[in-house]
Amino acid sequence: MKKLRVGIAFFYHESHSFAPLKTDIEAFYNEGYFKGDEIFSAYSATKTEVGGFLDVLTKEEHIEVVPLLCAAATPAGPVSNEAYQLIEKEMLTELEKADHLDGLLLALHGAMVVEDLFDPEEKLLKEIRTVIGNDIPIATTLDMHANLSARMLEHTPYHFGFKTYPHVDMYNQGVNAAKLLLEVILEQKNYVASFIKLPMMPPSINMRTEEGPMHDLMELAFQLESEPSIINASVFGGFPYSDIPMVGASVLVIGRDQTNADRVAKNLANQFWDLRNDFIMQLPTVKEGMKHALSLKEQKPIVLADISDNPLSCGSGDTTLLLEEFISVNHPHTLFGGLTDPESIERCRMAGVGNEVMLDLGGKISPDFGRPVQVIAKVLALSDGVFYNSGPFNQHLRVDVKGAAYIRAGEVDILLIGRPMSANDPEMFRHIGIEPTSYTILGLKVKNHFRAAFDPLISKVIYVDAPGVASNDLKHFSYKNIPEKIWPLKDIDYTELMEV
Ligand SMILES: [Zn+2]
Repeated sequence: MKKLRVGIAFFYHESHSFAPLKTDIEAFYNEGYFKGDEIFSAYSATKTEVGGFLDVLTKEEHIEVVPLLCAAATPAGPVSNEAYQLIEKEMLTELEKADHLDGLLLALHGAMVVEDLFDPEEKLLKEIRTVIGNDIPIATTLDMHANLSARMLEHTPYHFGFKTYPHVDMYNQGVNAAKLLLEVILEQKNYVASFIKLPMMPPSINMRTEEGPMHDLMELAFQLESEPSIINASVFGGFPYSDIPMVGASVLVIGRDQTNADRVAKNLANQFWDLRNDFIMQLPTVKEGMKHALSLKEQKPIVLADISDNPLSCGSGDTTLLLEEFISVNHPHTLFGGLTDPESIERCRMAGVGNEVMLDLGGKISPDFGRPVQVIAKVLALSDGVFYNSGPFNQHLRVDVKGAAYIRAGEVDILLIGRPMSANDPEMFRHIGIEPTSYTILGLKVKNHFRAAFDPLISKVIYVDAPGVASNDLKHFSYKNIPEKIWPLKDIDYTELMEV
């Protein structure tokens, strides 16, 4: 029997319209850029979407996997026109070279913004359709924070959003997308989609699925998915830092018939709208957060989370207000990291392990959010910055933070890293000899993903309100392209859905 050929590709970026660092092609080369067979070694046995695609496809004897192109960069400012065009062109060239395909699996983020393009994932799908035609099924995976547009549905109805935050089900959604694609190819099944865009862009701070409003929404989605007519129900929180017309929340239901898919989508959308105020959180200042942490007596470390500078929300990882507080309090057994500062790492390298060096820490990429903090520090260890995630988020994935230095300034231990990266996995610290559980207070550049690995190791998380591009307060940003009426910037009256 002739094998059926299924292409796999990955193009991933979460873009912050107001972040200082533009995302150029180097950012993709640094994070992950793989072509053809390289994709197998990069993603096989990883708990990623592509890991999920591969596990389903390689188990099927009659399927031939056609690896195309995988490109991912750390969340940051908009992708440059040049980088997008280059990756799109390479993707289309690989598709042309692949000749005949019977299906295509794509891992996308859904909140990418290109300098001159608001909806690049839609453009990519459109271009892919011009190469492979309209008859070959495509299934995608999308981040829960995708700013999904209705036009995406014109190219395929088969999109699978993550249902966990921290996103520990990337692999599972890869498996779901691959299984559905095989069903569509092998059994000539056809399903419909119902999509509702909501006039809201909730901040993601209280979007964890362990508890709170997103937990309730996902529980409802799982319950609705158990109906025989429903294949998949995705709830997208959106990414409110993309200044684009299609910003914000949506729901997408894949079903066997339109009537039931529409009913389920409206049910979820109504529920989402009703819960909107639960997504808003008031946070303590840095000083209040530190005071609170110092007042607690816990067995395990307390985390002060600098959410406004979280690199996976496009922060530069080098703002200094929280670091300044750690240095000024100078409390024993405290750890801060990872602070992006390649210049200081180089100075540590020149000084050598065991020696003291004067450093101006951080505040170089985003000086508007705090100036460098001057310290005299002892260099305790240096590394190349390469480690493998051990926690559930992006498990087993190789991470390269382009060099690292473990230093001590007064009583405070600090991890410096060579490029922005959230402290989502303890291996970021352990690979250089830091054991995060041996401290009483951790100051981390994180938001929510880190909790997948850190929750068992810590006693409490205190989210603090420091300045930064990923601030919880959306009123800080000068939007130009979002819809005029959108919650929470406008308290709008939205009753259309409630009629159903
Ligand atoms: Zn996300």
